[in-house]
Amino acid sequence: MNLKYRKTIIAGNWKMNKTITEAKTFADAIKPQLGRHKWCEVVLCVPGVNIPGMVRLFKDTRVAIGGETCHYEASGAFTGEVTVEMLKDVGAKYVIIGHSERRQYYNETDFTVNKKVHAALEAGLRPIVCVGESLEQRELGVTEELISYQVKVALAGLSDTQVRRVVVAYEPIWAIGTGKTATAEQAGAVCTHIRTIIRKQYGARVARAVTIQYGGSMNAKNAAELLAQPDIDGGLIGGASLKPDDFMAIINAANQE
Ligand code: PEP
Repeated sequence: MNLKYRKTIIAGNWKMNKTITEAKTFADAIKPQLGRHKWCEVVLCVPGVNIPGMVRLFKDTRVAIGGETCHYEASGAFTGEVTVEMLKDVGAKYVIIGHSERRQYYNETDFTVNKKVHAALEAGLRPIVCVGESLEQRELGVTEELISYQVKVALAGLSDTQVRRVVVAYEPIWAIGTGKTATAEQAGAVCTHIRTIIRKQYGARVARAVTIQYGGSMNAKNAAELLAQPDIDGGLIGGASLKPDDFMAIINAANQE
């Protein structure tokens, strides 16, 4: 983390979990403890249908609510999808784009990711853009090339001001939901690589302002070590964000620096 230049962001990705009744139990558990999170921003990305309820539950806190995906078109015949304006309208501040599960199950590509990033920023939402390699790609030694490609395509056509508002989440696919975490050194090296790519394209000032998260089995035990890496500015957290104590422990780890 580097608190001088950028905000640390701890974001939960609830995926397809929790009814709003279950979310209330979660909110009741963490709200009394949230006052102490001074340094980092806390975000909960939840299924679209639960966003209005979550916004109400976290109304008087600093927790921002986000969506887990969006469409890039402003309206139309796209059954089941939601637009960025719809997310904005119900109070979302963030939206996850290009999560590996969306890429795997819903044909999301680097090019649709780019369109969604543009749409989100134009609507005033902060996109959390996920990039990451499979185990096979890591073992073939192409992680850096792949990440360069994903980052360049995701950010194509954005202005410097827009790039500063993007959050990049480095999520090695082999570490998501598997209990296998990248070592702090592995994760830190890829996050540094991401910042280097951004620096080459947009310059040092923009690059040092961008928040880069790590995601992939981050938990209460390994968060502090991962967050101690200079280019890891937070986490995108799946499983552990569903449990109030674990999520709170990660937030506290981010506030320790
Ligand atoms: C994720 O879904 O973005 C994620 C990182 O999941 P988990 O923390 O469960 O590995």
